[in-house]
Amino acid sequence: MAENILVYVEHLNGEVTDASFGLIALARQLASVNGASVEAAIIGGGAHGLAAKLAGADTILVGDTDTFGDFNPQGHSEVFAALVTSREPAITLVPYTSVGMDIASLTAATCNLPLVSYCLSVDAQDTLSATCQLYGGKVEVDVEVEGDRAIFAMLAGCASPDEGRSGGAGVVESIDVAVPDLGITFVSLTEPESGDVDITTEDILVAIGRGIESEDNIEEAQELADALGAALAASRPIIDQGWLPKSRQVGKSGLSVKPKVYLALGISGAPEHLEGMRDSSTIIAVNSDPQAPIFGVAHYGWVGDIFDFMPELTARLEG
Ligand SMILES: Cc1cc2nc3c(=O)[nH]c(=O)nc-3n(C[C@H](O)[C@H](O)[C@H](O)COP(=O)(O)OP(=O)(O)OC[C@H]3O[C@@H](n4cnc5c(N)ncnc54)[C@H](O)[C@@H]3O)c2cc1C
Repeated sequence: MAENILVYVEHLNGEVTDASFGLIALARQLASVNGASVEAAIIGGGAHGLAAKLAGADTILVGDTDTFGDFNPQGHSEVFAALVTSREPAITLVPYTSVGMDIASLTAATCNLPLVSYCLSVDAQDTLSATCQLYGGKVEVDVEVEGDRAIFAMLAGCASPDEGRSGGAGVVESIDVAVPDLGITFVSLTEPESGDVDITTEDILVAIGRGIESEDNIEEAQELADALGAALAASRPIIDQGWLPKSRQVGKSGLSVKPKVYLALGISGAPEHLEGMRDSSTIIAVNSDPQAPIFGVAHYGWVGDIFDFMPELTARLEG
């Protein structure tokens, strides 16, 4: 196989996202095995300025337009689908993010191509295949694609964003961005509320998940956080219950954090959660289920009850 690899480049607030740099690094790895070329497509306002940062791609396809606003699923996916049709990449890589989920599924439907989601890795040596997560990361499956072209929606962490930031300058090509009859209009980007602790700048985070069981038990986690000089963070169910503010949510639909220490208490480690914390320097997990996927990313783990762990550690720190 020597066909090209096309990467969808996501950008937000004038910055290319880490997930996109990771995909460029992955595309380079695949290309080095197959002799393929790497193309990166960047669409939307300010795309021309951002193209200069996409060092790892051989060709950068730029659709610079303010018509779509920051993100318009219809506008972006129609332009991208036209590229997938005209460039005929064997492999199309899209980040499995809130934006990427829209792009990948709409493009796959428009181009009538198979879509493989929740991918951890892709292999293209003989046939196209991928390793994907199921059931919140508890199961990994190997998927083989029928045919010689597919779209892969890649989970964060599949390759190093830093690797995707280096390389020679690619050839920049402008692309057509005319999309008639836009049925969706970008209204505004809602930033998370401010005023609370900024968990993205904290060195130590004590993160609680559904294992905390009830709002009344959060005090115990807060006492441990205080003893450690840490801030309290949480998985999404805790926020959905209204037990902590949205500004404490880690993950795909929350914040990405990279503290020195991330202590995960009663968190299973679903892909959407891992996406926001797997780059932490040291991850320590406590979970009563030895099969919990969080242990797959943790540097240290203890299989046990958080209600034994929290008071014991707090007492030792205070003692
Ligand atoms: C589009 C989308 C976006 C999402 N965005 C996010 C996001 O930003 N952040 C996020 O976190 N999730 C997000 N999710 C939800 C995600 O899929 C998971 O449902 C969620 O992360 C699970 O949270 P949890 O680990 O706290 O709960 P669970 O998966 O229920 O895990 C609870 C864990 O606690 C353990 N446990 C229970 N009791 C104890 C005890 N006493 N001691 C020790 N361990 C115990 C259990 O073994 C289990 O592993 C998103 C989902 C979707 C579809």
